[in-house]
Amino acid sequence: MKPKGAAVQNNPHTTLVTPDAPIAANTHGGRAKCLQRLVRLDLPVPRTVALSFDAVQRIADGELPDISAVLEQFDSSALLCVRPSSEDPDWGGPGAVLNIGMNDARYVELSDKMGAEAAAALYLRFVQSYAIHVARLDPDVFDDIEGDGRSGLRQTLRAYEDETDEEFPQDRGEQLIGVLRSMARAWDGTSARLLRQAKGAPADAGLGLVIQEMIPGVGQGECGSGVLQLVDPTTGLPQITGRYLSQSQGRDALGEGVSALYLEKDPRGPSLEDVAPQAFADLKAHAALMRKKLREEMQVEFVIENGTVHILDGVRVPRSARAAMRIAVRLAEDGIIPPQEAVMRIDPHSLNELLHRQVHPEAERDVLTTGIGASPGAASGRIVFTSAEAQASAARGEPCILVRRETSPEDVRGMHAAVAVLTEKGGMTSHAAVIGRGLGLPCIVGASEMRFQTKKKQLVAPDGRVFKTGDILTIDGTSGQVLAGQPAMLEPALDDCFQTLMGWADAERDIAIRANADTPADAQVARRFQAEGIGLCRTEHMFFEPGRLIVMREMIFAETPAGRAAVLERLLPMQRDDFVQLFEIMEGQPVCIRLFDPPLHEFLPTTRSGQRELAEALDLPVSDVERRVEAMSEYNPMLGLRGVRLGVTVPEIYDMQARAIFEATLEASKNGAPVVPEVMIPLVSAKREVELVKARIDSVAAAVAAERGQDFEYRLGVMVETPRACLRAEEIAPHVSFLSFGTNDLTQMTYGLSRDDAGRFMSAYVQQGVFSEDPFHVLDADGVGELLKLGAERGRAARPDVTLSVCGEHGGNPESIALCRDLGFDYVSCSPFRVPVARLASAQLAIASKLGG
Ligand code: PEP
Ligand code: MG
Repeated sequence: MKPKGAAVQNNPHTTLVTPDAPIAANTHGGRAKCLQRLVRLDLPVPRTVALSFDAVQRIADGELPDISAVLEQFDSSALLCVRPSSEDPDWGGPGAVLNIGMNDARYVELSDKMGAEAAAALYLRFVQSYAIHVARLDPDVFDDIEGDGRSGLRQTLRAYEDETDEEFPQDRGEQLIGVLRSMARAWDGTSARLLRQAKGAPADAGLGLVIQEMIPGVGQGECGSGVLQLVDPTTGLPQITGRYLSQSQGRDALGEGVSALYLEKDPRGPSLEDVAPQAFADLKAHAALMRKKLREEMQVEFVIENGTVHILDGVRVPRSARAAMRIAVRLAEDGIIPPQEAVMRIDPHSLNELLHRQVHPEAERDVLTTGIGASPGAASGRIVFTSAEAQASAARGEPCILVRRETSPEDVRGMHAAVAVLTEKGGMTSHAAVIGRGLGLPCIVGASEMRFQTKKKQLVAPDGRVFKTGDILTIDGTSGQVLAGQPAMLEPALDDCFQTLMGWADAERDIAIRANADTPADAQVARRFQAEGIGLCRTEHMFFEPGRLIVMREMIFAETPAGRAAVLERLLPMQRDDFVQLFEIMEGQPVCIRLFDPPLHEFLPTTRSGQRELAEALDLPVSDVERRVEAMSEYNPMLGLRGVRLGVTVPEIYDMQARAIFEATLEASKNGAPVVPEVMIPLVSAKREVELVKARIDSVAAAVAAERGQDFEYRLGVMVETPRACLRAEEIAPHVSFLSFGTNDLTQMTYGLSRDDAGRFMSAYVQQGVFSEDPFHVLDADGVGELLKLGAERGRAARPDVTLSVCGEHGGNPESIALCRDLGFDYVSCSPFRVPVARLASAQLAIASKLGG
């Protein structure tokens, strides 16, 4: 008969795990709570005592629990093990110590049952683990031990005595006290504390411990131990996986203690199902019951003794991002959790792992340097240093990585041709980053620890290794790591499970998600990810197409408005065609087209040879071209003649764009759903700018309607990306139907921080706590957020039905979406590949607020 254990049960800090014992995750830890759940399910769990956080803290402080009362709970001959039980299993804890109670007498007894060699191996492992964890001996004390049988045991005990000048303790109580004390103190150590805090544990997180009777696993029938789960932890697909070590089969087969016996059919031997079909069936049933009742895919730790299964523990199956998604969806499909819970279980950031290729988690990484991971996913290719080389490489069918100090609009075609981009300069919203994300192209920016010797066409890694054109690198845009060589990859996982999860998320969402899409290809991706329209089409990218750039340059060089208008006539049909395509792809969904934004000189050639070519094309002396290029350069182009300032001073460009949009509207509405285009004016800072541009656009609209004899609707809006536009939103809003906050420029201007140069010192600023996060990545709620709030309030006060949105890169960042939702914005718009992340993040916000309210 087992002792009743009243002493233990009356002590709230040292509790026998029974179905109704007072055990909670926040007092005894997750493992203790899980074991109680298993006991409640009537699963064959060995007797277990749980020590509370308080009890463990007291042990660390030198105050021991009543050890004899604890020991009374167990058979006097039982071996024990102690395992950590922190509140959240992810916070870790000291390693488990097994076979407490092993001593000379037990060794003799066990030798009879399991053979002297196996018993010696068991004892030897315990002595070594006790020596290292409790007596704090250096592990290399045992380096010279040979063999793990009887002779190994003798040497181990001798080494222990030599080092400690004491005999190995034989008393189970004394051993247990030593183990409990060392585990309690290990939790208080600095490295353990830092480690768990890095995983999100609070500074005062407690540790519980569970003391469990060990199942000897000896007998005539099948004996062994292992772990089993019902899913594959990498793919998340249903598949029984695990490990099993058979004592009996191993001894018979090899004359040794253990050998591997695989659960899955394996050429190396029979499966557990073959040698113990009933135990295998029981295990599967237990695992299925745990899945159902604990509402989670569990890894079962078990022992088989004489063909009978014992469950020692259950832990959440460790899992990759794709496995997490498939597990959550299947649990919901099986009715075990509601769909909302499946939505809540997936970290939106982790979707990046599903949407893009990734470096295989088990692949070796030869890390050269770490920059800013500006666009997620991984790709390997030969490095090239110019856009032209990238295009040539793509034409040969050779994947390449475009390496530049920084990119400019002229590199866009090279980026299209490359499989990844690496730049020395830049931050989260620099050119390479924005285009990279738009294209779904892995991109690392700000890799400034590498030397970019672009003239010599080579990269020098911080460790001195040199990589030249044609050498193979891998860009991991998720982690920001630049890797040498070509590690194995994991393909994207956009399967039915993903679609199902997204469908559930959409049902909950209360803020719309659009995509920033500049090209038909972007728009296709936006549709594929079910964006609810285009929130920002940056039209300037369209002018870098071959054939257009030269016309654009001619337009810039035109001497008079009439000359300019004549050249723009040639661009008109091309722009119209762009918009027809976008409207047709979006099938009646809103498409917000931003009028021309960048400074004109971005379109002019910077090299001598480029200027010579231009002079030739325009039939001008090269000195003229040089002079004009020089005259157009600005000290601060991002604060210079760009955006609406061009609309006011060179109005013919916006006239042409407006005409192209309206003609495309009529054309696309002919066969498809009626199109209501949205026209957006960038970089506004004053009401008068809007009045001037609006008057011209209205008159273009009237002219097109009159010429075609057909009316159409359109919506005019302002891109709020200067602090002044936020402050003066009250006088701007009455002129427009929407205000879309361009938080990239707004962040740049609010901080007075160049978005293209911030990458150089951003990590130092974040490390030293000046900024909690890169404000170009996560919207700065206190400063920029305050301007958003003011702008929204003032805009709404003047025009209550004004549509509010964010179209800066922050629109795809879960933390920033929370702020937009709190401010009651109608939608956020982000790079197409971030649309699923935004859909999931906003669904979670909606569910959380429903639960909270
Ligand atoms: C912005 O400034 O937030 C924006 C979306 O425009 P761009 O990135 O093109 O300047
Ligand atoms: Mg902008």
